[in-house]
Amino acid sequence: MAIFKRSKILATIGPATNSYQMIENLIRNGANGLRLNFSHGQYEERDQQIEWVRRASKKLGKPVAILQDLQGPKIRLGMIKGNSFKVRTGDELVLDHAISEHDGSFRLPVQYNLANKVKPGEAMYIFDGKIRAEVVSIKNDNAICIEIKNDGVLMSKKGINLPDTDFSGDIFTKKDFKDIDYGVSQDFDYVSLSFVQSADDIKQLRRILVEKDRSDAQIIAKIETRTAIEPNTLEEIVKASDGIMVARGDLAVEVGAELVPIVQRRTISLCRKYSKISIVATQMMASMVDSPEPTRAEVSDVATAVIQGADVVMLSDETAAGKYPGETVAAMKKVINYTQEHADVAPGEVHITSSLRDDDQHAIAEAAVNLAEHLNANAIVAETKSGATALRIASYRPNLPIISVTSSRRAAQQLALTYANKSYVRPDSETAGVDIAKELKIQGYFDDDTVRVVLVSGQQPGKVGGTDTLRFRTI
Ligand code: PEP
Repeated sequence: MAIFKRSKILATIGPATNSYQMIENLIRNGANGLRLNFSHGQYEERDQQIEWVRRASKKLGKPVAILQDLQGPKIRLGMIKGNSFKVRTGDELVLDHAISEHDGSFRLPVQYNLANKVKPGEAMYIFDGKIRAEVVSIKNDNAICIEIKNDGVLMSKKGINLPDTDFSGDIFTKKDFKDIDYGVSQDFDYVSLSFVQSADDIKQLRRILVEKDRSDAQIIAKIETRTAIEPNTLEEIVKASDGIMVARGDLAVEVGAELVPIVQRRTISLCRKYSKISIVATQMMASMVDSPEPTRAEVSDVATAVIQGADVVMLSDETAAGKYPGETVAAMKKVINYTQEHADVAPGEVHITSSLRDDDQHAIAEAAVNLAEHLNANAIVAETKSGATALRIASYRPNLPIISVTSSRRAAQQLALTYANKSYVRPDSETAGVDIAKELKIQGYFDDDTVRVVLVSGQQPGKVGGTDTLRFRTI
């Protein structure tokens, strides 16, 4: 079989890719999922982008995941007069939630009421940490007085990080609730939540989605706070979520950049342990915002995520605002393909939790991977309704494709972001008695004349949790 990408690519749509042609180009070049970042943009724009993604995916015959990324308590400055405001060490600024316009004075608008959250003495980082400050006092009118700790320039809408501030139990903003309402009415496959503090945040989001009849949307927790990386908390968040994004941009500002590689590695391992999707995000190929070639360090960063066994590597500004969106996806795909062909993925690491390994469904998944590798099969074919069987197989990181045969368009779209997965959508009613392996061969899933596959299935096609059969076929 031709080389195919086992770690997948999630690309962010933004002004640089806001057209049908650009989106088709991203998918053609190797994007398996598109992220819509709800920190920016209007709903009308989103309606159009979703329609473009679905149209391009249909045209190219490739299931593609769409992820709605909720802003959470991401705090931003408002609009600044002239889009630039110089600050110096020792300046005292007032951040005021009640104003929307900046008049050029030291009173700046902020898009979040911080009065009940921050305490004097807490650290504040503005504009990705370029400006450091400290909270001095909370004024009677709920404005926040801060002292600037280094010289620099502030710009409109730049983010504010408060690593010492406790947001627990209250991370959803009014905007998030409105965006969730919009999201449930749309064709999203995944919903991610920013600045998650604990598993309860994820449980709350799941309750909301179930109440609104969108239990089919999978939930990704973004790991980017100090609280979330506490070992027990992180493990509980992984267990409560369907997948995790290591949101390295804000994480580095919140906890220190030197912690990020270790958090990344731990998170990928935990995701494998619990059969959840792992996404490594931010600055993977950041120089390609302006340049047609990645740096050596960026290539190495992507390769490291592949070797660690990440399901997904993500592009943000590179595809949202860069000059070379399609080229960046193609460059990333080249690195993934070369790395996975020349290095062991997650070498020597068996991380599946023993309670899961004892489970019969997991035992079948592990046996399928061992059998397929032992017999040098071309692929593992998994009949899967919800996608769970394919996910379980993927958690053993096989070095061959998992072809998921599913009747669910939603499952196929979600599996687009699962390690080593390709999907074939067909109705369950037609699956009984059909030689699936032969059909996949006719459909062009294999290049070889003789094909060897391991099939994982259940007695009743379409029954969730009914996987009980392992077969080997040569066609
Ligand atoms: C991040 O901070 O790394 C991240 C992915 O979040 P966002 O792009 O939404 O700021």
